[in-house]
Amino acid sequence: MRARIHRGSKEIGGSCIESEESGQRILLDLGLPLSAESNTPRFLPAVSGLDGNDPSLHGILISHPHLDHYGLLAHVSPKVKIGLGKTARRVLRAASDFVPVEWPLPNVGWDYCSRNSFDVGPFHVTPYLVDHSAYDA
Ligand SMILES: [Zn+2]
Repeated sequence: MRARIHRGSKEIGGSCIESEESGQRILLDLGLPLSAESNTPRFLPAVSGLDGNDPSLHGILISHPHLDHYGLLAHVSPKVKIGLGKTARRVLRAASDFVPVEWPLPNVGWDYCSRNSFDVGPFHVTPYLVDHSAYDA
């Protein structure tokens, strides 16, 4: 497995890590940089498949519902599957009528439950609930 950190290693926020195994890929987070003055596609990292046209990208797994970890989902094709904590997804859906229109509502995909493993292509994923200021992180 190889990992490529697109953003977030030298700054807080804007996190995006691409993992690849045997030509199959997933993203871990697709965050909006904290320094961004607006949410525009120009902040997207150079990752093939965000337009939904590269089947080697299996999806995007979001760590928690803070914009610096999921904000750029606003510019991803609805064809790209998104993983998120089951309760976090419900919170975002319930809040969607009360937040700015540029805040994304994640596509369907995987709904995590802490310690319940699942497979995404060649990746075996086990989420763990952590203490953080975002619910269901
Ligand atoms: Zn956070």
